[in-house]
Amino acid sequence: MFSSRRVGFCLGVAISIVAFCALVIAQQTPLRSITYKLSMSRPVSHLFEVAIEIELPDELKDKRVELQMPKWSPGRYAVFDFAKNVQEFRAVAGICPPQAQCKMSPRPVRRVDDQTWEVDPQSSSSLTINYKVFGNDLSGTFSQLDERHANYNGGSIYMYVVDHKPDPVKLVIDPPRGWKIINGRMQRPGQTEWQFANWDIMIDTPTEIAPDWTVDEFQVDGKKYHVMVHSFGPEGGKRPALVRDIEKIVRAETAMWGPPEFDEYTFLIHFAADDESGDGMEHLTSTQIIESGALGEPGVYDGALDTVAHEFFHVWNVKRLRPFELGPWDFTRDLATRGLFIAEGFTNYYGHLMSRRAGLWDDARFLRRESRTISSIENAPGSRLMSAEESSLSAPFLDDAPHAQKTNLENTSISYYPKGELIAMVLDLLIRGRSDSKHSLDDVMREMYDEFYVKSSNNSYYLRGRGYQPEDLQRVASKVVGMDFQNFFDRYVRSTETLPYDEAFAVVGLRVNKVQLKEPFNAGMSVQFDDPRAPMIESVENDSPAETAGLQSGDQIMQLAGRPPGKDDWLQTLARFKTGQSVPITVKRNRRTIKTSLVLGEPERFEYRIEELTGATPEQKRMRGAWLNGK
Ligand SMILES: [Zn+2]
Ligand SMILES: [Zn+2]
Repeated sequence: MFSSRRVGFCLGVAISIVAFCALVIAQQTPLRSITYKLSMSRPVSHLFEVAIEIELPDELKDKRVELQMPKWSPGRYAVFDFAKNVQEFRAVAGICPPQAQCKMSPRPVRRVDDQTWEVDPQSSSSLTINYKVFGNDLSGTFSQLDERHANYNGGSIYMYVVDHKPDPVKLVIDPPRGWKIINGRMQRPGQTEWQFANWDIMIDTPTEIAPDWTVDEFQVDGKKYHVMVHSFGPEGGKRPALVRDIEKIVRAETAMWGPPEFDEYTFLIHFAADDESGDGMEHLTSTQIIESGALGEPGVYDGALDTVAHEFFHVWNVKRLRPFELGPWDFTRDLATRGLFIAEGFTNYYGHLMSRRAGLWDDARFLRRESRTISSIENAPGSRLMSAEESSLSAPFLDDAPHAQKTNLENTSISYYPKGELIAMVLDLLIRGRSDSKHSLDDVMREMYDEFYVKSSNNSYYLRGRGYQPEDLQRVASKVVGMDFQNFFDRYVRSTETLPYDEAFAVVGLRVNKVQLKEPFNAGMSVQFDDPRAPMIESVENDSPAETAGLQSGDQIMQLAGRPPGKDDWLQTLARFKTGQSVPITVKRNRRTIKTSLVLGEPERFEYRIEELTGATPEQKRMRGAWLNGK
């Protein structure tokens, strides 16, 4: 039944996805059942214990079963190879009923490659696979088990059965005594068993298990929202206000999109109080948010709301309205999509705009935030080399990716988050201007959601609708506004031309003012003072005085202008010299001491400020109000 439907779809699609279709057609008869059982008998060991019970149809009893740990997980595009934390993989014939003591015979296991284990059932009609996974990272991608809690993201814990990712799966969690479970798929309190349509949906359901989290609730448009908070530091009495402000964000974003598709949604929020963990990750009916401070500490409250505004926008943009390549996924290799500047960058823009529309920020704060984004992009040398689409394709290198090899990405890359944010803002303002305020990017996003998610036929087992390509956004924008956007996409999305800020901001009576950066010139090097006695050059800009002087990242600065540099005064030391003058610098590289000179050039860093346009008309101001208030 499944295979005939899938073949029918595949015959009708373009050659570019033939490989994907071959994969789907190779889909086996579904297994009779797949049940995941998760336990955690020794939290201090950081070892999650996973059992996978599989019932095989007769025709598969004599075929080997492959189990695979994904190389990465959706929402973060760097390859992390979760298999590295798997240990003690075993297989036995049969399934032992709950509470029973069973003597089960082992089945042969062979490690096939870095992510795959193969089990020979030897004619047994069922198998139980056991393994353990080490997890001690609190994040939106990895998992953590310790004496305080278990917080997991399924992709880093659960293997899938190769060729059976579309099969329905059951999950049973056995928590430590006194620990409570919560995730975005709770049907009742105290629930310990779940049925998922497929493995992809199971790993889209991050789960928190602990004795002492709190949950607050509110309703918007008849939908129920749960705010789980697990605090590892003082909350300073701020939790009730936090929940009220989250509700304002939900109201602002649902006002733009209309009521979301789900009945219930769960915010899983950690205040880690470790100055280290920090993350946000989107899911279909939940989000994982981790702040590195304690809720009671200055700035942490605002940081959490900023993340909430971004992650909740993903309910529509990326989780449902998604680039073509985002689901179902191939977890054996990294992902290539040109659409992350829309999926993440547009979400960055709307996260900030929604904080304004929700009343959490005033106009000035929103414009300051966007000014900072413009400055970061326009000062980045990578802006001249890497387009928004190319940045999206480079996500596996950029997205918190670990690098064993030294790279020049600091000089050659830009992030699709801020670049996409600026493309969205400029596009939004141009649409408003060209349509005489009749349309906005909000209309384009709603039209995209309608066409690709609500009205499209499904193109996979995974989720309703189908994915888009960046050309689809161009087409839909052109259709909504009645004006061709090919030129815009060619110049600012596929190439590296500077965005037309002046034209865009003039629509709402604003301008971008470029002023010399106030902070002293850094000669093209960034310096980190993790060890104040051994300041280290972190990165060197291409074609800068630092590069010309032969300095490298990793060099330890011994002397700058005759004295050891301090975190608070090294820039002032440089500022005492004029353009063209030499500043002596001594660095230590490995066991060598190197003396050289920085010949200071003209500083080329600027600050960009969005400011009032002189003589802005009432009409321009009205359009600004409509933009910022979402009217
Ligand atoms: Zn927790
Ligand atoms: Zn995001």
